[in-house]
Amino acid sequence: MHERRAQRTRDDDVVGVLAHVVAIDGRRRRHRARGARASVGDDVCGVSLDERRVVPSSSRSSHTASCRMRVIARVITHRGSALNSTSTRSASTLARRARERAVVGNVAARGRGRHVMANSATTTPASFIDAFNDEYLAKHKTFEDNFWATKMNLRGNDVEALTKSFNALETFMGDAETLAKTRELLASKDVTDDQRIVLEQIEKTLKCYIVESKEAVALRESAIAKENALQAARNKQELGYTDVDGKFVSATPTVLRTKIRSSDEECVRKSCWETLRANGPFLCDNGFPAIIAERNRFARALGFEDFYDMKVTQAEGFNKKKCFEMLDGLEEATRPLMHAARDRLKAEKGEDATKGWNTAYALSGELTQLIDPYYPFENAPEVWGRSFGAMKIGYKGTTMRLDLCDRVGKYPNGFCHWPTPPFKKTDGTWVPSESNFTSLATPDEIGSGNTALTTLMHEGGHAAHFANIVQGSPVFAQERAPFSVALAETQSMFLDALCEDAAWQARYAKDRKGNVIPWELIERNIRQKHPYKVMALRGMIAVPYFEKALYELPEDQLTTENICRVADEIEEKIQGGFSGRPLMSVPHILADESSAYYHGYVFAEMAVHQTREHFFRTEGYIVDNPKVGPTLEAEYWRAGSGKPGFLGLVNNLTGKPLSHDAWVKELGEDVEELVKSEREAYEKSLAEATSTSDVDLDMRMLFVHGDEVIADSAENGGFLPACAKFKSWIHDKWPKTVAA
Ligand SMILES: [Zn+2]
Repeated sequence: MHERRAQRTRDDDVVGVLAHVVAIDGRRRRHRARGARASVGDDVCGVSLDERRVVPSSSRSSHTASCRMRVIARVITHRGSALNSTSTRSASTLARRARERAVVGNVAARGRGRHVMANSATTTPASFIDAFNDEYLAKHKTFEDNFWATKMNLRGNDVEALTKSFNALETFMGDAETLAKTRELLASKDVTDDQRIVLEQIEKTLKCYIVESKEAVALRESAIAKENALQAARNKQELGYTDVDGKFVSATPTVLRTKIRSSDEECVRKSCWETLRANGPFLCDNGFPAIIAERNRFARALGFEDFYDMKVTQAEGFNKKKCFEMLDGLEEATRPLMHAARDRLKAEKGEDATKGWNTAYALSGELTQLIDPYYPFENAPEVWGRSFGAMKIGYKGTTMRLDLCDRVGKYPNGFCHWPTPPFKKTDGTWVPSESNFTSLATPDEIGSGNTALTTLMHEGGHAAHFANIVQGSPVFAQERAPFSVALAETQSMFLDALCEDAAWQARYAKDRKGNVIPWELIERNIRQKHPYKVMALRGMIAVPYFEKALYELPEDQLTTENICRVADEIEEKIQGGFSGRPLMSVPHILADESSAYYHGYVFAEMAVHQTREHFFRTEGYIVDNPKVGPTLEAEYWRAGSGKPGFLGLVNNLTGKPLSHDAWVKELGEDVEELVKSEREAYEKSLAEATSTSDVDLDMRMLFVHGDEVIADSAENGGFLPACAKFKSWIHDKWPKTVAA
C-alpha cells in the first residue's frame, strides 16, 4: 500500500518543494507519517529489506533501517508542505516567489517597521519578551491552523489565508529591527539571568532567518535562481525503464526504486538502476556544479570554511571537523562488519547479489503477511498510549489531534506539526502544546496496523518531547531552525525502537483475540536481518561523506566527470561497491535546505543506542519502566533547543560523550547470542506482564477524520474510552477489520 501511495506523488517535485520550504517556513523540519514513508525510504540504503518496513524486526539495532526511511521521509515531508493543497506545481511557483522574497525581504523588512514591540525606546526586557512571545505564537498558530485546514481539506479552508499567514510569520521572523532590539536589551544591565536565556534564544532563532551580509544575500539569490533552473529541467525530464519485452515504460524515481527491490526480472532491476545512476550526469549538466560553487561562496562570505561547515554548525552547534571526527570513528569501526556482511551475502545468495541492482532484491523476504495479524490497526492508538503510559510519559496538558485514515481530498503525505509550541509566560502561566498528526492508513490493508503503531511511537515521541519543553518562549520548542535534527530524532527514534524489542512485542504485539506474537516469527526475523544491518548504516553514512567531498572540491574542479567519479569512489569505499541507491540520486543533496545535514540522523542513531545502553546498564530494562519517562523529561526534553544542546544533553543523561560504541557493539553481536538474549527478554516480559485499567498521558486526544470528530478523550471519559470509540468507528467503516 505504501508503494501505491508514494507513487501518487512525483519525486521530481522533491527539489522544488524542498527549495520552497526555505521560503515557506525558513528551515523548518517536518515529520511525516510512515504511511507514505516506506516505499521511498528504501532507496536510501539500497539494501532494501521489504518487510523490514512493517515487521518489527525484534533486534535492538534494527531501527536503523526505519530511521533511514525517516531520513528520506523528511524530504517527502518537505514536499508535503506545499502551500497550495491542490497543485504542487503552482505551490512550487508560489513558494519560489516567496523564497526569493524571503532572502531579500528579510533585509527589506527593516523598512516596514511594523513591530511595535521593537520600536519603543522604553521597552523593558519583560515587556519585550511578552510581546515577542505573544506575536510569535499568534502568527505561528494562525499559519499552522490554516496549514492543517488546507491539508485536511476542511470545510471553509482558504489557500489565500494560508499564504497570507505564512507571509506574516515570515516577515515577523525576518525582521532585522527585532533582532537589533534583542541585542540592545542583551547589552543592557537590567536583564535577569532568566531573561538573558530567553533573549539569547530569540537572537539565535532570528539569526537563522536573517542574512546580515549584503554580499551573502546576493550569492544566496544567485544560488536560488540556479536551483530553480535545475528544478525546472528536472520537471521536464522523462524517466523510465526498459521492460522485459524491450518496451520503454515511464516511471517516477519512486517506482524505479520499488522495482529495484521487487521486480523478479534482473534486466528490469538493472534498467531502473541505470536510470537512477543517469541522474548524476543529468544534474551536473544542468547547473549542479555551479550551485555547489555558489553555496560555498555564500558560506565563506559568512565566515565558514565551506557550505557543509556552515550547515552543520547552524544545525548542530559544532563544526564540520568535529562532525567528521565522530563519523570517521563510526566508519572505521564498522568497515570490517560491512565486508563480512558482503561476504556473507555472496556466500548465501551468490556473487551477483552484491551488484547494485540485485542486493535489495536478494535481501527481501516475506514475513509481512505472517506478522500482520499481531498488529490490528484499530488497536494501534491504545497500544501506543499503554506503552507510553507504562513508562510514565506525560504530555503536560497537550491537545493532540489525530487524523489517521486516508480519504478522498486529503493531502497525500502524512506529517506532524505543532500549532502551539509550549512555553512558560513571564508571569509563570503554562501554555501547553497543541499538536496535529496525520497519516494515510487504509485500516484493512496488510501492514497498516504495524505502520500505524510504529508511526505513533515515533511521532508520539516527537510530540512528547516538544510537549515537555519548559522554557520562557515558544521559540525553544518550535520545530524550525535552530532546533537540532539530531536531538529531535533521538527522542522519536528511541521510542519507536521499542517496537523492535522482543520484550515490547511480548507485551504489545497481539492479534484481535489477544494472542501474543509467537517467538518463532521474531526469531526468523532476527536471523534474516541482523547480519545485514551494517549495510544500512553504511548506506546512511555514505551521504555525508559524499557531500563533504563535493563541497571540498575546488571550484575549478567541479566538473561532471569529477563529481560522478567522487560519488563512485565514496560508494566503493563506504558501501563496498556500487550502491543500489546511487548517491547522485539521493534527493537530499540537491535542495539547499536538505543538503549537508544527513549526519544529523547518524548522530541521532548513535545517541539512541547510547541511551538504550545507559538504561539497560542502570535499570536493566526499558519496556514499561516507569523511570524512563521522567528521566527523558528531566534530562532530554525540558531544555528544548536551548543550552546545553544535543551533545551536552547526551553527555548529561548517559554520563559520557556521544560515541559510536553502543551502536557498533549491537551490530557486531553474534546472531546466536542475540537470539538467545532476545528470547530471554521475550519470556521474561511475558511472564511479568500485568494489565492496567487506565491510561493517563495528561493530554486531550481527539480522533478526527477531516471535519468529523470521531472521539474526544475530554468528552468521552478519558483516553481508553476514546480509543474504544475510535475502534468501533474503524470496525464500522472497514468491516473486514472485524472479521479478521
Ligand atoms: Zn522524526
